Amino acid sequence: MEALIDSMQRALHDLGEREPKSLMELQVKLSEEVGELAAAVLHSQGLKKLNVPNAKDHVLEEACDVMIMSLSILSRFDFDLEDVEAMMQKKMGKWERQIEESERQ
Ligand SMILES: [Mg+2]
Repeated sequence: MEALIDSMQRALHDLGEREPKSLMELQVKLSEEVGELAAAVLHSQGLKKLNVPNAKDHVLEEACDVMIMSLSILSRFDFDLEDVEAMMQKKMGKWERQIEESERQ
């Protein structure tokens, strides 16, 4: 878990700040990565053909690309890891309440 936190920190600060792409280029790249994740998920379910050795690993790879690009965008707004953690806690709580609500129905 410390390695994940270190990677997130590096994406938010060192690497994110050194990334030469503009904010608009990062946004387009994020959209590209979201599309690649969608393709990987479709492939994992047999709904799309891709030439990759392991469908499950490909989903992981593309999901990580989405997270990295999201962090690189956040770096342009000077958010730090504490900001990400606080928002993640808020959003995870909301997600959990929605699941609990759907389970009661
Ligand atoms: Mg990718």
